[in-house]
This record gives sequence, C-alpha cells and structure tokens, in this order.
Amino acid sequence: MMRAETRDHECWHCSRRTGLALVCLHCEAPQPLPAASDLFSVLGLPRRLVVEPRDLEDRYHAASRAVHPDRHQTANERGRELSLSASASVNRAYRTLRDPVARGRYWLELHGAPLAERNNQVPPELAALVFETQEQLEGLRESGGAAAERRAVEAVRGELDARLAGLSAELEERYVTWDAASPGAPEVLAELKRRLSEIAYLSTLRDDVEETLAGREHA
Ligand SMILES: [Zn+2]
Repeated sequence: MMRAETRDHECWHCSRRTGLALVCLHCEAPQPLPAASDLFSVLGLPRRLVVEPRDLEDRYHAASRAVHPDRHQTANERGRELSLSASASVNRAYRTLRDPVARGRYWLELHGAPLAERNNQVPPELAALVFETQEQLEGLRESGGAAAERRAVEAVRGELDARLAGLSAELEERYVTWDAASPGAPEVLAELKRRLSEIAYLSTLRDDVEETLAGREHA
C-alpha cells in the first residue's frame, strides 16, 4: 500500500510502469514530479542535512542531461513542457542543496518553520562584533573616507569574513550530529534557526560594510 506510488507509477507516454525517475525508464519521456516531491527527491537524495558534494554534482549532471530540453525538442508538447519544468526543478534543487546555508533554510521551510525574511534583532552572541562594525562604519563616514578609517573598516570586514566562515563550518558539523539523531526534532529546528539567523544577520552586515567601502571609493 505504502509503495503504491513508487511501484505503480505509469509513464504518461508509453503507459509502462516506471519508478519515480525523472524520465521514463523505458521511453525516456520526462515524467511529472509527484505532488509530494521535495528538492532532495528531485535528485534522488534522502532527506538529510548532510549532502556529499561529489555525489550531489554527479546526480545533478545526470539529472540535468536526462531532462534537458535539447534532448526532448522533438517530443510532443507535453513532453517538452515536462522537460522544461523538470529542468527548472533540477536546477533549483542543485542551487539550494549545494550551499549548506541555503540547504538549512530550505530544511526549515520543509518542516514548516521558515526563517523570517527580515530580522532586525541583533543575535546576543554577535552584539560586540555588530557594535564594533557600526562604530567603524560611522567613523569612516564621518572622516569622509580617510585612509586610516578605511583600513579599520577593512579590518572589521576581515573579522566578519572569519566569523562567517567559522559559523558555516560549525553548522556543517552540527548537520552530521543532527542527522545521526533526529534532524526534524523541534529543538533541532530551533537551534538551526538560531544559527541561520546569526549567519543571515552577519551576511547583511557584511554587505553594508562592502557598500560603504565601495561608496567611499567613488567619493
Ligand atoms: Zn515511457
């Protein structure tokens, strides 16, 4: 019963039974994605926070070739439409899953706990760094772009980069632990959300720094 969907999926084109492959195993016609499919299943991956980059690349290239519109240009209208929509899904899955931060955000969405688009609250762990950055930016603006102030802002940019790299590395370590335990548990989702909020906050701050530095360059 549970396997009905995977076992009895019938190709719209040749009517033969095919699994959940993106293209029919017999006639290679692109298949509509099942309603319940997520970005992991598009590439045949299990729902896990850890994704092995090499495996992802291989799956992406294979899927991309199989559904590519060039390969289905002589198909009928339905075949061509399905090829286009499957290609879009494959690209979206790859773009989302290859980046640990984007993957984490998608994970929250999948579990009905999406990260807020805008978050103006300073995460407590980052308060000191945020304060320092804002002070240096203000110093640079007030000085009209003086060299010493500029160097100070560049130094802060370096700190932000290091902090972001550290947070991303930590996040991937946590993914391993969470996958081994219970990656959909409410406490895991809460911690994932907290970590992703920190990263999002710092990335926005990093953009502000970059903009300010770029603006001064042309002043
Ligand atoms: Zn078929």
